[in-house]
Amino acid sequence: MKFKNYQTVFLYTLAVIFLSSCDSSSTSYSIEDNGNDSGGGSNNTDLPAGFSKFISEYTDVYISGDYVVVESAGVPNHSSPYWGAGHPNYAAPHSNMVVNPNIISEQNFKFYIPLNPSISSSSSSTPLGPIGVSISGVPFYNQYAGPNNQPLDNEIPSFDSYYGHPQQTGQYHYHWEPTYLTFNESASMLIGYSLDGFPVYGPTEQSNGQYPSNLDELNGHSHSTNEYQDGTYHYHATSTSPYLIGGFKGNYGSLNGGGYFTN
Ligand SMILES: [Zn+2]
Ligand SMILES: [Zn+2]
Repeated sequence: MKFKNYQTVFLYTLAVIFLSSCDSSSTSYSIEDNGNDSGGGSNNTDLPAGFSKFISEYTDVYISGDYVVVESAGVPNHSSPYWGAGHPNYAAPHSNMVVNPNIISEQNFKFYIPLNPSISSSSSSTPLGPIGVSISGVPFYNQYAGPNNQPLDNEIPSFDSYYGHPQQTGQYHYHWEPTYLTFNESASMLIGYSLDGFPVYGPTEQSNGQYPSNLDELNGHSHSTNEYQDGTYHYHATSTSPYLIGGFKGNYGSLNGGGYFTN
């Protein structure tokens, strides 16, 4: 019974995303075509292995110039009270949840992730708003609730069962480990990318299933992973602040004042 419900929800979401992406197809595909022309081949064969983790039902991933572009509607691939009562994906709030007044709305995200990330000589603090993207196309936000580094504490009770919530304009996001992904696959899986181009993993290591003990102040460190056999800097989700990405170790996109567009 449970499975059946999820299946219905999934198909509905798929339909919604398909319909909504039609609106923007003319713009997005002209960029993709340009990339193909200059690259002289299929974009997807050149994508770094980690990008194959993106869920194709929810994201469009392709190379454009020096970036991997991830397009998404930014909506979660799971139930939430924030879909609003009457929506097929609606779920009742979990016990103790303090539901905020916002409702999930579809976005038109284009995340520009550096194709060849490089470590910056000085790390930089993350901005408010999207700082990365999960493999389901939902943005990652940082460890703060607002300007002046307000801690998240007052917002945490409004997280749904999978640790996400929408802000005032309906933009759904995760400040914490996206547990719908990790509980269903693995706590050590690649869960997304930071806008500086480095991957973000779940709370444990693929090699031994243990929690990393040597994370830097940004929640990152370097070693080889299943997707990066030669080794890479990467972030891990943690249960304490900064939770996902404590700051950019690399140079992040300069487009639109950040590494993403939405319109
Ligand atoms: Zn938030
Ligand atoms: Zn690691």
